[in-house]
Order: sequence, then C-alpha cells, then structure tokens
Amino acid sequence: MRPAHALIDLDAFRRNYHLARALAGGKALAVIKADAYGHGAVACAQALADEADGFAVACIEEALTLRTAGIRSPILLLEGFFDEDELPLIAEHDLWCVVQAMWQVRAIENAILPRPLRIWLKLDTGMHRLGLSSREGRAAYLRLSASAQVSSLVMMSHFARGDELDCPRTEEQASTFTQITSDLFGETSLCNSAALLGWPGIRADWGRPGLMLYGVLPFQTRLPAAIELEPVMTLESKIIATRELGEGEPIGYSARFVTDRPTRVGVVAIGYADGYPQFAGNGAPVAIDGKPGRLIGRVSMDMLTVDLTDHPQAGLGSRVELWGKQISVAELAAHCHTSAYELLCGVKRVPLIHRG
Ligand SMILES: *Cc1c(COP(=O)(O)O)cnc(C)c1O
Repeated sequence: MRPAHALIDLDAFRRNYHLARALAGGKALAVIKADAYGHGAVACAQALADEADGFAVACIEEALTLRTAGIRSPILLLEGFFDEDELPLIAEHDLWCVVQAMWQVRAIENAILPRPLRIWLKLDTGMHRLGLSSREGRAAYLRLSASAQVSSLVMMSHFARGDELDCPRTEEQASTFTQITSDLFGETSLCNSAALLGWPGIRADWGRPGLMLYGVLPFQTRLPAAIELEPVMTLESKIIATRELGEGEPIGYSARFVTDRPTRVGVVAIGYADGYPQFAGNGAPVAIDGKPGRLIGRVSMDMLTVDLTDHPQAGLGSRVELWGKQISVAELAAHCHTSAYELLCGVKRVPLIHRG
C-alpha cells in the first residue's frame, strides 16, 4: 500500500476540546465543518459525542452526514439555510439553525414545521460578511420571539480580527454586541478559537472553537504553559527512492533546486494531490525519522524530495512527517504564505487513520 496517510489522534482531539470548553467558561460547540477541518467529521463527532455540548457545521449536508452516522447531539448550521425548502428537514432532524438575513425570518414565519426551531440569530458587529445590522437584528429578534415556529433564540456574532492580539477591533465588536443585546433575553455566543485563546475578557454562554480543537494556534504569540494544545493530525509518508548527486545538479520539475554541494536526495511518496502545498518551496520543514530536515525542489503531484545529506541513517522506508506532532502545520503555513486552516482542509486522497 502507498505509505502516505494522515494519523488522527482522537485522544488529543478530546483533550483539546476540554481545554477549549474550560476556556469558554460555559458551553462549547465543537466546530467540525469541512469534514472537521480535514480530520474526518464523523470520527471526530463520535469521539466527542458523549462529551461535547454540541457540534457546528456549515450546512445541512454536513449535518445530515452526522445524523446518518448516529450522532444525536445538537448540531448548529453556521450558515443557516440557503433555501426555505430546507426548513422542514432542519426541524425533522432537530438541527439548530443560524438566521443571518431578513428573508430567512420571513421564511420561518411562513413555514409549516413538525416542531419549532432553535434559532441562532447572527448579528453583524463589524465582520461585514453574514449577519443582521443592529436595527434588523432587533426587529428579527422580536418577530422570531413571537413566532410559533421558534422555540428559543441564541444571539451570536463573529470576530474578524480575533487573531490580531494588539488590534482594538475585537473589543469594539464585543461591545457593539453587548449594546445590541443587553435588553434582549436569551443565550449568547461570540468566541472562536482566537477569541477563546487571545481575549480572556470576552466571553458569552457558548464558545465556538474550531481550529484549536485540532491543536493549532490561530496566532504566533506564545501562550501560558497551561494552555497546551496537542496537534491532532500527523501527515506522513515514507522515502521510496534515494540518489546521490554531485554539486550543480538540478532536482525535479523546473529545476527549482540545484545542488550546492554533493547531495543525497530522498523521494517521498506524497505530493500536492494529497494536499501538500505545491509551492512550499526549498527549505520547508519536514521531520525525517524524527529529525528536523528540509524539503528541496518543487513538489510534484504524487511525490516530493527531501535533503538526506545530513541524515546518513535515513534511507528507503524512512518515515517523513510533513506536519503533525513535530512539524507545526502553522509554521509550515507561514513558510508557504497560507494558513493552517487551508492546509488542514486541503488534505485529500490519503487515508485518514483514526486512533484513540
Ligand atoms: C468556522 C467558524 C468558527 C470556528 O472558528 P475557528 O477560528 O476555527 O475557531 C466559529 N464560528 C463561526 C461562525 C465559524 O464560521
């Protein structure tokens, strides 16, 4: 079998959730949209089913996959519904639903549903993506509170710059939220991972941690030692060929790397079709049999090359970690000018092997 795979440490995932929930100081929805950021949503939900206060996904398709797999916990649809046709299914499967626009308020008022819905009313406090303005939000609150199709309301908002710890915007958004909601009855929800980790002064009834559950910090600042997140995914493969080259020899497509000394090269069975970034570039960090090493040359669809010159013990069959417990996916992302979110969500083709 091809040796490339992603190991998923579900014990670490559970510990990260417990830490996120303790930081939230209340309840926490585990955000497992986009197939749990590439970690396998069903396995992740099953690992937390008895412990999580609930889950959050992007859309009804993702929620129904979880229901079909036997997950009975609350599930929130973060983007709400795209079409009013979805409402009866949302009620039937007992899903919680975001409302982010006035047409959705009308659709709910006019719907005929098997049971009333728990609605999360999304307020735009400065992100300016989804959500209702302060005036619309209050109107929506009154109409939905009066609707027989609604059982309860949670008020929520989302931060645009929570990962920028010296930016005043997050506190401004939080205080706008407090202004809009202070005289409205109901639970509240504000914090994603960055806010849970970086803004201890901002809290609400429900946290919505995503990235941190997978063991990744949303910013580069060091945190107190007590906040120890554990990487959940280890993307790894093996060396399937080696060769010795003299100085001045090009490696791979476009000769992106030319040896500047006699070089021993290892070819690793993983590439951009597996979700490793094609333009990671020379020097991207890897771990070769547990020791720090570097990528050289351009990443191919199914393979990439690493420098074995300083790894005399390594050879055919040596294990190469692309990210995981040793190589931080956030550091690799910074090296490639992308985000850990994009790298994790982009993993494909390789089997996910869940443990714990
Ligand atoms: C994805 C998402 C989250 C989780 O964000 P992280 O940065 O991964 O913690 C929380 N809330 C909403 C509305 C989201 O879309």
